[in-house]
Amino acid sequence: MLDLLNLPGVKPVDLHSSSRAITIIAEVVEGELPHCPDCARLLYRHGRRTNIFADTPMQMQPVRLEISRPRYRCDACGKTSTPELTFLDERRRATKRLVDAIRQRCLGMTFHSLAEQTGLAVNTIKNIAHDLIEEMEETVRYETPVIMGIDEVNLAGAYRCVITNLATNNVFDMLEFRTQDHLKPYFKNMPDREKVEWVCTDMWRPFKRSFSEYLPNARLVIDKFHVLKMASEALDEERKKYQSTLTKNERVQVKKSIRWLTLKRPSSLSQAERNALEVVRETIPSLAQAYDFKEAFFRIYDDPDKVSAMRAFEAWENTLPEKELDRFHSLAKTVHNHYEDIFAYWDSPSQITNAYTECLNGLIKIANRIGRGYSYEIIRAKTLYAKHARKVGSGVRLAIPPTTSAKGINETVEYGPHIPTLIEIAEAGGLD
Ligand SMILES: [Zn+2]
Repeated sequence: MLDLLNLPGVKPVDLHSSSRAITIIAEVVEGELPHCPDCARLLYRHGRRTNIFADTPMQMQPVRLEISRPRYRCDACGKTSTPELTFLDERRRATKRLVDAIRQRCLGMTFHSLAEQTGLAVNTIKNIAHDLIEEMEETVRYETPVIMGIDEVNLAGAYRCVITNLATNNVFDMLEFRTQDHLKPYFKNMPDREKVEWVCTDMWRPFKRSFSEYLPNARLVIDKFHVLKMASEALDEERKKYQSTLTKNERVQVKKSIRWLTLKRPSSLSQAERNALEVVRETIPSLAQAYDFKEAFFRIYDDPDKVSAMRAFEAWENTLPEKELDRFHSLAKTVHNHYEDIFAYWDSPSQITNAYTECLNGLIKIANRIGRGYSYEIIRAKTLYAKHARKVGSGVRLAIPPTTSAKGINETVEYGPHIPTLIEIAEAGGLD
């Protein structure tokens, strides 16, 4: 029989296939009888042992390898032995080449489809993935971001903390929780933490408290996106108030048309939409007022000059009508509570916020796509270590030579998975 196995020390002697798998019967190629490792006597044969191992698929079918091995026994000391086959992973009941193939694929495919393709149990695939993840955590390290984003993403049942590199648009790390107990030791132990110059985040106070003592050169900027979102929500609150005075039918119409008309910036409205917005302004004066306050707030961020933006905010706040537009009043209060960190935007490198918004939206998409049915640990590994997303593309990212850590492990320094690539993979359905 043709040696279709190409594995050292065994030869195939039979093959049969069922609808579910191909079974190959293989025998150990026997040489002379071995000697006892303890007393050096010549051993004698003592029956055979047959075990089944999974091997790499053939013809799109799982392969079961039935290996029959001779057993030997020493008649002096009673010790028994079987020939060692180096290509086997006895613990996984699989050939080492199959385990390798699974390691190559397990972060880019579902465990279920790998189990189906190989005939191994889902749990075995999971165990192989866990070993791989442990190794990755030891050996893969991403370059500490100069401009860092800290986000929260709801994944596998809790809010997780995602740390991004906003200058290169990469995911840097993910933490299981966003509490100070998790964040503080993380920043304390972060390599090259003095490299971080800017941290862009939302108004979640624990973020600031957790990094401020450990990142000596970092300045906080509250992301523009989160501040403006509050203005949009304040406007939407007024729309809802108006809606509650309408009949059910009228309400559906208003929700569809007015919501988007008022939330968009005027510059992105079509002529027809602009006309429609005029009608809204004339017929619903209370909403028109809220709309004007929303737009005036957005224009603060359009101002390129910090001092003039601060003055614009003051003027905006002073014209807010008393005892009306509650949500706009709470927005003003929030701005005061985080005044320096919000206005730090005007001192920060201009690219911060665009990348930030893209990151945030992208991560939410990815989270929705891969979140179902996976544990946090696996989602983290699939996001951080997926091979395709880590591939260094042309352009922005620099090639950094491998360095050797104190432990002597060869580390390749990278920037982490590129967010646009992660999104592409997620949208193509490849990262599930
Ligand atoms: Zn012996």
